[in-house]
Amino acid sequence: VKTPKIALSACFFHADPERPLFKGKTLLYCEESMLHWIMCGGGLPYLIPTIKPPFTLDILLEDFDGLILQGGSDVCPRTYGEEPLRPEWSGDAIRDAYEIALVKHFVAAGKPVFGVCRGLQLINVALGGTLYQDIRLQHPGAHVHRDWNDYDQLFHDITFAPNSQLKRQFPQLDGGRVNSVHHQAIKDLGKDLIVEAYSANDKITEAISGTGTTYIYGVQWHPEFQDPLDQMLLPTTPLLRGFLDACCK
Ligand code: MN
Repeated sequence: VKTPKIALSACFFHADPERPLFKGKTLLYCEESMLHWIMCGGGLPYLIPTIKPPFTLDILLEDFDGLILQGGSDVCPRTYGEEPLRPEWSGDAIRDAYEIALVKHFVAAGKPVFGVCRGLQLINVALGGTLYQDIRLQHPGAHVHRDWNDYDQLFHDITFAPNSQLKRQFPQLDGGRVNSVHHQAIKDLGKDLIVEAYSANDKITEAISGTGTTYIYGVQWHPEFQDPLDQMLLPTTPLLRGFLDACCK
């Protein structure tokens, strides 16, 4: 059985003169449970650096079978043509540009792309969509989708869209329970994307998939944060299996 090589896009700690470790240096990092979740499915994750000659994106990525985009900082509103409504919602435009280049490369190469939380939002923006900069401000009536104290222990129900892959993966279910650690969300859907699932109470988009030939999938929740033994939550294995199977094709 082939072990799929998974390109994992990095999170950034930009150069910070106040940081006691690696003072003034840029750090590229990933969160451990994401690495372990990919490995549980039999995929081998590799953190992808920013481009440095003599490497080009084409050379750097030719051996990889698929791309996973992690969560983390906000997408910068300027990346989808808006000004930040508050300075603290300015996000990370440098990471946006790095990840959009990765998404476009993999989609053009016909290789699968999977996004988690920010990753779903980034895929949407890379394909021409837009975001709510802040759910509470711009989607009145929505329930709480992020709470600093509860963090990944905040949960809500989602409903599967008809004709979704989720509906086929879980034929006995109409939806499930997921964690929620986001304050941005999809506003306008990007090109060749459909909604897979939405939040049951307020209809916030919680999962998307691509309709084109390249496998594209995104979830607003964090499957990697889930306790695999938690029977109350929507199982994450079919999602990961779907992505990794596509990577092996
Ligand atoms: Mn949510």
